[in-house]
Amino acid sequence: MCGIIGYIGSKKASPILISGLLRLEYRGYDSAGIATVEKNGLSVMKDKGRVKNLYNLEGIDDLEGTIGIAHTRWATHGKPSKENSHPHLDNSKNFAVVHNGIIENYSDLKGFLEKNGYTFYSQTDTEVIPNLIHYYYTKDKNNDKDRILRAVQHTCKDLKGSYAIQVISKYMPDNMIVVRKDSPLVIGKGDGECYISSDIPAILSFTRDFYLLNDNEFAVLSRDKVEFYDIDLNKINKNVKNIEWSASSADKNGFEDYMLKEIHEQPTAIRETIGSRLPENEPCNFDDLNFTKEFLTSINKIYIVACGTAMHAGLSGKIAIEKLCKIPVTVDIASEFRYRDPIIDKNTLCIFISQSGETADTIAALKLSKSKGATTLAVSNVIGSSITREADYSIYTHAGPEIAVASTKAYTSQIVLLSLLAIYFAEILETTSVFELKDLKKELLELPNKIENALKSSKRIQEFAKNIYQEKDVFFLGRGVDYNTALEASLKLKEISYIHSEAYAAGELKHGPIALIENGITVISIITDPKLVEKTISNIQEVITRGAKTLVITNQELPANNFDTIITVPDVNVLLSPVLSIIPLQLLSYYISKEKGLDVDKPRNLAKSVTVE
Ligand code: GLU
Repeated sequence: MCGIIGYIGSKKASPILISGLLRLEYRGYDSAGIATVEKNGLSVMKDKGRVKNLYNLEGIDDLEGTIGIAHTRWATHGKPSKENSHPHLDNSKNFAVVHNGIIENYSDLKGFLEKNGYTFYSQTDTEVIPNLIHYYYTKDKNNDKDRILRAVQHTCKDLKGSYAIQVISKYMPDNMIVVRKDSPLVIGKGDGECYISSDIPAILSFTRDFYLLNDNEFAVLSRDKVEFYDIDLNKINKNVKNIEWSASSADKNGFEDYMLKEIHEQPTAIRETIGSRLPENEPCNFDDLNFTKEFLTSINKIYIVACGTAMHAGLSGKIAIEKLCKIPVTVDIASEFRYRDPIIDKNTLCIFISQSGETADTIAALKLSKSKGATTLAVSNVIGSSITREADYSIYTHAGPEIAVASTKAYTSQIVLLSLLAIYFAEILETTSVFELKDLKKELLELPNKIENALKSSKRIQEFAKNIYQEKDVFFLGRGVDYNTALEASLKLKEISYIHSEAYAAGELKHGPIALIENGITVISIITDPKLVEKTISNIQEVITRGAKTLVITNQELPANNFDTIITVPDVNVLLSPVLSIIPLQLLSYYISKEKGLDVDKPRNLAKSVTVE
């Protein structure tokens, strides 16, 4: 999920590797490391913490190797620590590997390797890779030049999940092998040397000639050439591409801002968050939870506690848990909850959501709940973060690092993770029919493709943004799950466009806010719950009568109407529709902010992780 760098040439590899890692720092990470091929074998230097700490590691200046691999890690399996940092070695210490991504079936592979006498020294999913390579290498009796390549190929055939992998070996002093699937990796070609990187800008100062590797393609690098192979090891030809990007646009993978990049990363973030939690024809699987029917039956109340966007994800979680598990859920703002003396006992489950896992009020609320005897469960995007260390149980979104202050991919990943949790509980409690759950699981798996479709509204949203960016007030309306989306959309607009906005449950309109509706005001409504279409439409008519301009986000076939703009998102089970209906609204805030010439990624007065009360 974070970054990899590689070098093969005639210069000392280690300074090049470290300077490449420094250029990948913007992606966010928790540990860093390098491995080089030295005269007497492989050398690995790594630790948790900053890349620049590598300069201080003993012996780093003595490295002479001209082939090396390097990594910044964003932990997904196992906390940030020296042992869990990459590169990882196999048991014989003859193969070193760095890996970005997630190996979903690592525990099966680990079990297999353990049965075959392998020992594991880290908690990562990655460590299975060098050991599998060693396993297949020793099984192969044909000692020709492609023996390691075959071992890597066999290994990749066993892997489920996402990966960009670099392999070096003591047995391969003049080559390096790389392969990717659903994780980025590019190869830069210089004169008598090659560079590997997760993105182009990190190595743009070394070369402008690149090979772009596709999924399931292998590359064997030498100093003066690169050979490419498909999954069956048939040779393939690739042309060098000359890249003319400016370093700053390339930094964001071609996107103008991190927020836009992260909005577009949502299909991947959701895919990774689902990961191996929905095995075919088996119950939903949370490796880190071992809840029994007896325990879940004893829970008579759930609190979901969070701040800001995470709290809005919690509102969708409430609807899913109540519907599927029939347990009452209260969603609370952490800074209110902690001072309110909430009624909590040993039959209460408290769920805390924080992207960074460092949100001060959420941590305080967690400590309070624990002291009152509740079972606590943390939902975070950062392994080893404070809430996950404090809570009885932790589960993770795998959205990857989120750099933009306004949360997008972490939010939708949180909704997905809470839906998975609701399914997991419902299967244990047997509170929802097997068929209904099966459908919901199928819809979850289809979500990433549907998000891709929802992103296609971008152009029309951009036009709409041009019409309304000078507004002073905007209203958002919705009922049920759509009210939650209205709240989140309104927050996004405030955060990055500095436009005052209000979100109302559409039925509340008549109880006050309709007094504010006057000629020309913009009202944005969300309609995705088939049961509530007519009700919400009536509310929109009420504002149109009073002169409002309307934008409607919907996945329903609406009866004839007089709305100004309608944006359609793909149809989906209503429990999951917040994941799709927020996409055009994230884009709307983004484009309004751009029209106003604001700093989208770093809005005024806001911090990414609110570590103060
Ligand atoms: N899943 C791997 C780990 O936790 C790699 C994470 C990454 O992409 O940085 O170590």
